Amino acid sequence: MKEPCIKVDQLRVIYNKGKSNEVRSLDGVDVEIYPEEYIIIYGPSGCGKSTLLYGISGLQPPTYGEVVVNGKNLVQMKKREMVEFHQNSIGMVFQAFYLIETLTVLDNVCLPKVFRGENLKERREKAMDLLRRFGIAEQADKFPAQLSGGQKQRVSVARSLINNPDIILADEPVGNLDSDSAQNVLDIFKEINDVDKKTLIMVTHNPEHLIYADRIIYMKDGKKIREEVNLDKRPKDAIKKEIELKPEEISSELKLLMRTFKNLTLQQIGVLLIPFKAKQIISHVLSNLKEEQIEAAENLLKELLFKNLSTKELIEKLDLDMEKGGAGWNKTRAISFTKRVEEILTQANALSDGVEANLVPFSDYLIKTYDLKLNEDMILRFKSFIKLRMENKIDKFGLEQRLDAPITLGGIGLYKGSAEKVVSEVELIMLIKYSK
Ligand code: ADP
Ligand code: MG
Repeated sequence: MKEPCIKVDQLRVIYNKGKSNEVRSLDGVDVEIYPEEYIIIYGPSGCGKSTLLYGISGLQPPTYGEVVVNGKNLVQMKKREMVEFHQNSIGMVFQAFYLIETLTVLDNVCLPKVFRGENLKERREKAMDLLRRFGIAEQADKFPAQLSGGQKQRVSVARSLINNPDIILADEPVGNLDSDSAQNVLDIFKEINDVDKKTLIMVTHNPEHLIYADRIIYMKDGKKIREEVNLDKRPKDAIKKEIELKPEEISSELKLLMRTFKNLTLQQIGVLLIPFKAKQIISHVLSNLKEEQIEAAENLLKELLFKNLSTKELIEKLDLDMEKGGAGWNKTRAISFTKRVEEILTQANALSDGVEANLVPFSDYLIKTYDLKLNEDMILRFKSFIKLRMENKIDKFGLEQRLDAPITLGGIGLYKGSAEKVVSEVELIMLIKYSK
């Protein structure tokens, strides 16, 4: 079991204590947060969300209680330790950005590095990497006043990441943004958690944001009123449900697929299977293309699945300009995409000829494709899990749980992100092989 990286114990913050205008901003809050969690602190304005976040950051000293971060009690930290903690262990993002207006975007991002005495060139390179990643490299030499709100917030996210802290704290980071910019920043946060494995704590009063979190801490009047694990994001009770199924109730492949692809009726599975397959392959393999480029590719992929197009022709058409009936991609992407599609179709074809005989090559293919680092025992375990899923003895969630669970608990301890990707590909291939 992982240890919590943040422990908040009976935290109280009382302003103007003992005076007539005393405010109990936090009134005895207990919270434990684990590495790599995405936590949302949610509640109405004035309920103490920001105070809790600043308590965790060490900016707000407790009136009573304790905050321990990465094994260190913040109250007991010496001033120098606290400075080091702010430089290296946490990154902060605020609603109001707090960029320095007289520094360029690039220098704003570099700023936390300046205090670490690193050389200018390295600093700037690292900062440019982040600006590129968040799509604001072209703004590097501009000043904050020349940027839109969304761009400013991306700069401040880059700044929070520059010293590579494990924990990112964000106080209503999209509260001042229009909905498109807000979405863009929320996507970046999701990626920082999923891909970079940062522990992320975000304060919000917007219920639409709750879907992103692994766990939600609900607050009211300075107190934590409840916590909720987000089952939609990560169904933790899936194994329990599965054990409750009696053998004669084990669903057919079709039923299980329908559970996976919830937005589909039985009829659709029959009639629309090919277009649907095209859609699923696309969304699995692609990201960050324009909508019309994806739509054009989806139509081409349908042609391939209907066998009106060869893989060679698919590459040519993907690469072709949209005005000429292509999808307007470039050659490299067209080739690598087609290669992935071919791999997926090859695996699905082989498996539809017989699961038993093709299980080992399929498992090896998954291990290679997702670059899973497994020892021999874990490879055997992995194969047995894939077999269980292919034989419909477990469902999608059962597979994910087994891949994700620690080795000591009978799993193979994959990162959540890797487990999700493997599961997504297995489900996709089961769909493709179904009634081929
Ligand atoms: P939220 O996260 O919902 O915005 P806050 O944590 O900012 O809530 O504030 C919680 C309560 O503490 C509010 O009633 C607020 O007015 C009060 N408060 C916050 N900061 C101070 C302060 N420096 N002095 C007095 N009261 C404060
Ligand atoms: Mg607040």
